[in-house]
Amino acid sequence: ICFASGVAGIDAIMKGLDPGDKIVASDDLYGGTFRLFNHVFARYGFEFEYVDMTRLDEVEAALDGDVRLVWLETPSNPMMRIIDLEAVADMARTRNIQTAVDNTFATPYLQQPLSLGIDLVLHSTTKYLGGHSDVIGGVVCTNSDEWAEKLRFQIKSTGAVPGPMDCFLTLRGTKTLHVRMQRHCENAIRMAEYLSGHSKVAAVYFPGLSSHPGHDLARRQMRDFGGMISFTLRSGDVADVSRVLSATRVFSLAESLGGVESLIEHPSTMTHASMTAEQRERAGISDGLIRLSVGIEDYADLEDDLDQALEKAS
Ligand code: PLP
Repeated sequence: ICFASGVAGIDAIMKGLDPGDKIVASDDLYGGTFRLFNHVFARYGFEFEYVDMTRLDEVEAALDGDVRLVWLETPSNPMMRIIDLEAVADMARTRNIQTAVDNTFATPYLQQPLSLGIDLVLHSTTKYLGGHSDVIGGVVCTNSDEWAEKLRFQIKSTGAVPGPMDCFLTLRGTKTLHVRMQRHCENAIRMAEYLSGHSKVAAVYFPGLSSHPGHDLARRQMRDFGGMISFTLRSGDVADVSRVLSATRVFSLAESLGGVESLIEHPSTMTHASMTAEQRERAGISDGLIRLSVGIEDYADLEDDLDQALEKAS
């Protein structure tokens, strides 16, 4: 079922539940999802509990009698954590709890949660599916006739319908999705390896690196590792972060992600600014964290650009 934005898809899933229902969500999520959960749906009596879903024991402990939905992202935004989709789906199903995955970072080319037992899959088509940063849209996929009917009812009743030009652009984007994703993945793994060896970089968060704690799991449940990378600078100095962000010329400073062109951004003041400082700290989003959406440009241009920008850090 297609929506006018990714957020409209999340909104429609939530409205398929009943006020007062409890949602267990992973603690590292797109900032707008936090905003919608904490500042909109919490006002209508929904209850949210955030857990680190890389720890299956924490998920199990949270799934008590009132929980109706488990919501998660893998790879997560922006810490690139990997969550075991099959294990979470099994755990929820045995308790009659629905599961929803925001699969925006992975795309259907790299990861197919429905085939691992998940009930609802959301994509912001604004990102990789559209692929050219010229459209806003969302899609929710489900194997459940009951959910499909609920979602159709929501879109008809609340009006978050995508326009025809947006549908045309998104469909056109899907025709090159696999080729673009191959190049995003190729560029990102090279970029992650380059950053890992850089003297000014303290930590690189990318599931394609064998040092990443979710690497083996990502190999199992994804076709490849995607185009998103986060990293921190060794100095930990916010002024340094700002110097790097304003020095790039090929990477544009912007939110969003998944387009053919590379973007750089600062989660704590941009995409994740609407989380509380405590929520950011819990998710591991420090003020020194930088997020990259690695595009499909010539790899050497991207590395040269980051190289000269990182020189500006002390
Ligand atoms: N999910 C993720 C992971 C996102 O990064 C975003 C937007 O940045 C959304 C959902 C929301 O999508 P949209 O901008 O299409 O409403």
